Amino acid sequence: MSESTPCLYCQTENEAGLSDCKNCGMPLAPSHPGNRKRGLKFFSKAFWLIAIFCVIMMFYLPR
Ligand SMILES: [Zn+2]
Repeated sequence: MSESTPCLYCQTENEAGLSDCKNCGMPLAPSHPGNRKRGLKFFSKAFWLIAIFCVIMMFYLPR
């Protein structure tokens, strides 16, 4: 049973050990179980930054 790493950008299955996608050349994240969790954490961080930015703009922009 060989492990493969799906590309985050084009969903191509790449052999484990490759550092770049063989199809689109984008860097692959190392295949670890915590991979998906880390991406989710980053996403929620980005979401909060955008949410805070929206709140600031709501008060900053004159109506
Ligand atoms: Zn790719």
